Amino acid sequence: WLGETPWPRDRLIEALHVVNDRCGRLPAPHLVALAAWMKLSMAEVFEVASFYHHFEVVREDADGRLPAAPALTVRVCDGIACEMAGARDLLARLPAVLGADVRVVAAPCIGRCDTAPAALVHRHPVPHADVDAVQAAVQSGRREERVTPAVGFDAYRASGGYMLWRDLVEGRRSAESVIDVLDTAGLRGLGGAGFPSGRKWRIVRDMPAPRHLAVNLDEGEPGTFKDRWILEQDPHRMLEGLLIAAHVVGIEAAWLYLRDEYPGLRTMLAAELDALRAWAPHPLPTLDLRRGAGAYVCGEESAMIESIEGKRGLPRLRPPFVAEVGLFGRPTLAHNGETLYWVRELVEQGPEVFAAQGRHGRQGLRRFSVSGRVNKPGVHLAPAGITLRELVDQFAGGMPPGHTLYGYLPGGASGGILPARLADLPLDFDTLQPHGAFIGSAAVIVLSQHDRAVDVARNAMRFFRDESCGQCTPCRAGTAKALALMQGPRWDAPLLAELGQVMRDASICGLGQAAPNAFDSVLQHFPDELA
Ligand code: SF4
Repeated sequence: WLGETPWPRDRLIEALHVVNDRCGRLPAPHLVALAAWMKLSMAEVFEVASFYHHFEVVREDADGRLPAAPALTVRVCDGIACEMAGARDLLARLPAVLGADVRVVAAPCIGRCDTAPAALVHRHPVPHADVDAVQAAVQSGRREERVTPAVGFDAYRASGGYMLWRDLVEGRRSAESVIDVLDTAGLRGLGGAGFPSGRKWRIVRDMPAPRHLAVNLDEGEPGTFKDRWILEQDPHRMLEGLLIAAHVVGIEAAWLYLRDEYPGLRTMLAAELDALRAWAPHPLPTLDLRRGAGAYVCGEESAMIESIEGKRGLPRLRPPFVAEVGLFGRPTLAHNGETLYWVRELVEQGPEVFAAQGRHGRQGLRRFSVSGRVNKPGVHLAPAGITLRELVDQFAGGMPPGHTLYGYLPGGASGGILPARLADLPLDFDTLQPHGAFIGSAAVIVLSQHDRAVDVARNAMRFFRDESCGQCTPCRAGTAKALALMQGPRWDAPLLAELGQVMRDASICGLGQAAPNAFDSVLQHFPDELA
């Protein structure tokens, strides 16, 4: 299955995928053989195999037999938007309808909140899933997803694509001028952290070579699906941004880390990368497309780097920062896909065009993933600083009949929950913080009077408990304890406040630090639900 020559250590997760795809799970004897073949200890292989949700390690029984693999697995997303749209009811009803041969399981957010509730029949997505739609998908025999980008390689080239990269490589444009454009436009990292992009490029460029580039396409924040949209629309725009960044910063090797929940995008992106390699008139950096394995924490940049190295996705302590010591110990430029997607447009149109956009004193444009109680869920390009009310009314088609605004999540599960009375705040990096909320990757979930903030908060905390990597106690124990404290009709507010403080102060990464936003929001903005 894996060829003659043992794969290097960093390809362990790729090797596990090969076995998992063949067997539908990871039989323990295969892991023993894999460890011997890759010259790794069994502990190294088992710890990685058991870390990721998409791997299921199975052992032989006393008679040496492996349990039978299910013929088919249907995954129903139980993320916030899907739960609001009826995922629990679907999960309860499907097993009886589909029969014993089909395994029905709940899955954490699969990045399809705009078509909630969403399900996967093996790897075939079912949007707006109800019992009939899932049953029809099972009977149809469709098991894979096919994605054809709206703008493929030829169309992108025909629109002047990759000319900017060629101008740089062939000396018609200076690297410094590109960084100046990013600075003038005020482009910030759009994965959630919001670090100024131009400054980040300079920092990594000033580090000793060799330098690496890691593109984070692991959007796992419940409510976020903009990277999927970008890749479905125009993948080469992001890839040209990657090539430009690599040239300007002096990078010879790049990794693209794509979440495993997007199998159709993976096949598509591999083909588009081949088309790019076949055409390229100048040497490209090595471009290595890596497959996640179902771990939300790997969206955190240092955890992503650990995962690309073939290890468990355990976030690293900082300093040192990945810009100094990143992939394989080298200085690394880590970027969200959307940030790179903006580069060509900013340079071609001029930073002033971008900077001239924005509302309420803010600058630029942002892509919002909008889901929940709106008529037009989807990815909406809107001015930075737009308010929730404006975003819903002017971009997302307003709210459905019978629904009035009750609250909203401005930044997915980790960004807190705000009430309708705060719907006129500019949605931007720093404006929501005084109210205990964050925009993060701009994943906006809209709630109506038919929703309850406590249900949303419990859903979020359950997600964090399940996704905690477990390496630090405040997060591992804190998320579980918080979820237990959030079960009853009345919450112990002083105890939760104390717990939240410890989690914020002592968790290593953003997962544990942001998890308390869920219960803090309810206590601060929705106390009536606990009365
Ligand atoms: Fe892992 Fe949670 Fe600690 Fe982050 S905060 S390193 S997810 S245990």
